[in-house]
Amino acid sequence: MTESNGKIRVVVVGAKGRMGREVVKTVLNDPQLELAGAVDRTLHQVDVGSVLGLGDIGVPFANRLGECLVQSNADVMIDFTNPAAVRDNVYTALEYGVRPVVGTTGMSQDDLLAWDRILREKGIGGIVAPNFAIGAILMMKFAAMAARYLPHVEIIELHHDQKLDAPSGTALKTAEMIAAERQSVRQGHPDEEEKLAGARGADFDGMRIHSVRLPGYVAHQEVIFGGVGQTLTIRHDSISRESFMPGVALAAKKVMELTGLVYGLEHLMF
Ligand code: NAD
Repeated sequence: MTESNGKIRVVVVGAKGRMGREVVKTVLNDPQLELAGAVDRTLHQVDVGSVLGLGDIGVPFANRLGECLVQSNADVMIDFTNPAAVRDNVYTALEYGVRPVVGTTGMSQDDLLAWDRILREKGIGGIVAPNFAIGAILMMKFAAMAARYLPHVEIIELHHDQKLDAPSGTALKTAEMIAAERQSVRQGHPDEEEKLAGARGADFDGMRIHSVRLPGYVAHQEVIFGGVGQTLTIRHDSISRESFMPGVALAAKKVMELTGLVYGLEHLMF
């Protein structure tokens, strides 16, 4: 915390987006956080509050992220942009010693490893979480537990049709957590044949992942287990983007105490 008021100074990147605008409101309403700056693609020098329908709040959208991080003396950068933008944003934050909290999905394992190395060199923390909703974290944890006993599993994730990456970061993370718990299993019939390419979904260590994209959805996932004479379905629904905000606020605070990269909100919860 760099300012005398003891608050954590946060810059929100992608602040005009669906997630970013919720994050701005969360930061403004949290007594431990201060909105130090905001960046979005095309909005420069316009007041953030006026764009988000909150009335003027005295924080204009900055022209460039680097400049904004330095001038605002930021402690934390929260990024909800897109898979193409997030890499540069995180490297900019790292360059200026600002802790990244990343909700954007679709980055590579290599990026995560590189960020962890740089964060450790700098002695500061970072958090990347494919899902900030507490219920989704529990869904993933319960799914990993169930996979020990019911190893045949398929994942169906359902999102709004403006989402750019598929499968979702949550589905990938769920598959990784399940793969860490179960023996490798050959699923489905050995002679099964796709009459239409993609009909059986994506393959992750023998598990199938199916991505649904439709207007009306926010973020939802079912993990379906099949055993002899039974199925088990574990489902989580984010019915509004507010569901992610307690997790984002928690991450913005916890990141101040970390060194290196934490991948997944569960590591801050359990
Ligand atoms: P969105 O398209 O509504 O918002 C993205 C915003 O980023 C836009 O306003 C865009 O102008 C801005 N932007 C793009 N490139 C930029 C750049 N270089 N610099 C500054 N701003 C830039 O998207 P969204 O629905 O808010 O989702 C954003 C990301 O968050 C996606 O990757 C999505 O998958 C992810 N997401 C994560 C969680 C989670 O819990 N981790 C939850 C929901 C969504």
